Amino acid sequence: MTGGDLWLRSGLPAIGGLAVTHTSKPQDTDLRARLTPLQYDVTQNAGTEPAFSGAYWDTKDAGTYRCVVCDAALFSSDTKFDSGTGWPSFYQALAPDAVELHDDRAYGMVRTEVVCSSCGAHLGHVFPDGPRPTGERYCMNSASLRLDSDA
Ligand SMILES: [Zn+2]
Repeated sequence: MTGGDLWLRSGLPAIGGLAVTHTSKPQDTDLRARLTPLQYDVTQNAGTEPAFSGAYWDTKDAGTYRCVVCDAALFSSDTKFDSGTGWPSFYQALAPDAVELHDDRAYGMVRTEVVCSSCGAHLGHVFPDGPRPTGERYCMNSASLRLDSDA
């Protein structure tokens, strides 16, 4: 992997994110050993995987999407939709308290960052242009997720 792959890589700490209240956050050395470099960069440095490159952007399998860091259940395949963006997109989190939202003013944009409420892992952003019934679009990184398939 080269640095060019991470075209939206953030050198800045997440604003208001990664607070000390995330009780499930593992040790950094453990994470570096367990995650791929991309998974580490996305979840710990608020990186963004290239569009159409991740494992789940086009996945239609039924199951529960879990946090790749702490295994918390985050999204259901029932709420996944084809956003055309090249990132896995959902119109709703599995539970209201499964994720936390933070203002993200990096890159001169005002966006809403989505993090795992259990461990603080960066997941992606949420935008107000999603489909019914919520009108929200949770634009996630495949690198932050692990699909627990309903077999
Ligand atoms: Zn987590």
